[in-house]
Amino acid sequence: MGNASSIEPTKTIFLDIDGKKEKIMFSRHCGTRDIHDLIAHAAGVSRYAEISLKDSTGAFVSLNPTMPINTQSSPYKVTSKEPSPTTESSNGDGEVFTQVLSQVASQFNNQFSKEGVFKVEEIKTDIATRLSALERKMELEGLKAVEIEKCKRDISDIKDQIWNAQKKFVDFNRLSSLSDERKISLKRDVPSYPKYTLSQETIEYLKQPTFDIWHWEPNEMLSLLEHMFHELGLVAEFNINPITLKRFFLCVQENYRNNPFHNFRHCFCVTQMMYGMIHLCHLWEVMTREDLGILMTACVCHDLDHPGYNNTYQINARTELAIRYNDISPLENHHCAVAFKILSNPECNIFANVDKDTFKRIRAGITMLILATDMARHGEIMDNFKMKLEPEFDYKNKDSLDTLKMVLIKCCDISNEVRPMEVSEPWVDCLLEEYFNQSDREKMEGLPVAPFMDRDKVTKPTAQIGFIKFVLIPMFETVAKLFPVIDSTMVEPLRIARDRYEDMKEKNSMPPPPSQSNKKKTVTEK
Ligand code: 5GP
Ligand code: MN
Repeated sequence: MGNASSIEPTKTIFLDIDGKKEKIMFSRHCGTRDIHDLIAHAAGVSRYAEISLKDSTGAFVSLNPTMPINTQSSPYKVTSKEPSPTTESSNGDGEVFTQVLSQVASQFNNQFSKEGVFKVEEIKTDIATRLSALERKMELEGLKAVEIEKCKRDISDIKDQIWNAQKKFVDFNRLSSLSDERKISLKRDVPSYPKYTLSQETIEYLKQPTFDIWHWEPNEMLSLLEHMFHELGLVAEFNINPITLKRFFLCVQENYRNNPFHNFRHCFCVTQMMYGMIHLCHLWEVMTREDLGILMTACVCHDLDHPGYNNTYQINARTELAIRYNDISPLENHHCAVAFKILSNPECNIFANVDKDTFKRIRAGITMLILATDMARHGEIMDNFKMKLEPEFDYKNKDSLDTLKMVLIKCCDISNEVRPMEVSEPWVDCLLEEYFNQSDREKMEGLPVAPFMDRDKVTKPTAQIGFIKFVLIPMFETVAKLFPVIDSTMVEPLRIARDRYEDMKEKNSMPPPPSQSNKKKTVTEK
């Protein structure tokens, strides 16, 4: 996926469907839903079926555009489950109405009985009314072709509504999962997690912001994270049991969801960029190993259990999370709470061997850093940091050092555009896919929609130009005042990315070049 290619890059995934070998191919413009539908098609099930993939070790594989590629000899095993009863087949007759109605009735009654009973009743009544109006219309007007088409469209709208309502309740259940012990405990243990030997080349490359983060499967990312903790001396500093470290990372991985953007690979990217900055800036010369451990662990945990819908959505939709955290950084509070829930399990607690006071400091430090990743606080944190730079930054001052750490995690969190184009560009597609999912849902639920998330208003270059010019470059330039090496290694790639997106925008707005025949005509007319 990280390979630059002048032709449309595609990804090939090999599947094992009940012993039958199948292959799917998709371009990087495909979203999670497209890939899901493709696999559903290959498996001969409906697009509403629940699909899961497992690799040869039995580990679940994320189903999204960033999913790791495999080989023909190690296909992913596909399992699928249809929602019952099925709603596919829209032949335009009464059978469809009965099927849709019975799906509404059975699914809503059986699966979503406790939460949102009133909402479900409302949707049921609404759908039943619309369906009976459709039936009546078909009876009165006969089955004219044009009417059948219209009915099919209406039915398809209703199906989408059911699908979205279903998703909403699934999400709702997950959001209240903090108390769900099963989710926090491990589904697989260390023996099922292969050992990798990293080449000297990979070890050195891992310290660079140019590292190709798409090249690695989830198990390999786990090993690379482990390596970073060992190499920085954190295992020695906190006296971490190496098996506990493996279990901690496994548990973290299991608690990232398969969102288009906010997934385990994003966690890996942010942590690897922090590792890169530690090495580029020689941070061990200005802070303690404990500080480095806080920075790295905060990166690893910073988006745990992200539901794929941002704080604005949480607040406007009055979700369980927004209620729990009183609209104050609900997501960041949740990421942090899940992190400490994981650490509360002795089998995963990488800080089990530190004394009480050290643990207190580590907990306060990680919490402060994860909460600082809320972009609503960007201006406040940057203003604070700029003040600490004058007249001279004082590394001995706790407040100053805390602000520097906050700025560092913020830099890493939004650093995709610092990476080479082949690495950074797929992330924009992932981010836009997540944005569009949110704005589609907001439109459906009658909630406000931010223009930067609206598929009718935003494009790749417009999404990136403003963000690079007004957020990224000013922030990295400010950090470069303290660490001059950042200018050539991080600010310069950002300037290149800005110029490239500006070119892209210009090209997009240019009229297409006249075709050969048009050119000839122009000459004749003259
Ligand atoms: P998060 O903590 O959610 O990963 O990062 C903060 C937010 O910054 C993201 O949710 C997203 O809205 C924004 N962001 C991060 N990277 C980019 C990017 O490359 N482009 C744009 N337009 N926004 C970004
Ligand atoms: Mn993040």
